[in-house]
Amino acid sequence: MRSKFDTTKGECLLCSDAITNPICHNCLESEIEDWLSDRLPRLVPKLKKTGEMFKSYTHPGTNCILCGNNMNVCTHCYCYEVNKLFENYPRLAEEFIEFFNFELRGSTKTLDLEI
Ligand SMILES: [Zn+2]
Ligand SMILES: [Zn+2]
Repeated sequence: MRSKFDTTKGECLLCSDAITNPICHNCLESEIEDWLSDRLPRLVPKLKKTGEMFKSYTHPGTNCILCGNNMNVCTHCYCYEVNKLFENYPRLAEEFIEFFNFELRGSTKTLDLEI
């Protein structure tokens, strides 16, 4: 039986994929906040709330290439959560994906325009 500590360094706690682009949710959050305050400032508090959720993951992972802080949830999982904030704002959701261009896996590159 393999030790549970014997896992590859820097894998995401949520999806167990290797974190190939280590940018922590704090750094992403400030980028997204900049973008969001120009568009829908009233969603900013919700964005912060999403960030709070990720702060509870304190398991040692890898280090953010921007701020050097420990991180253990990949950008994909974080953005997936953030994207939920835009459920009722399809245009924002699209722009978000386009703007931050996260490798949203399984994306067929066809955007569902339901506006
Ligand atoms: Zn992940
Ligand atoms: Zn960071």
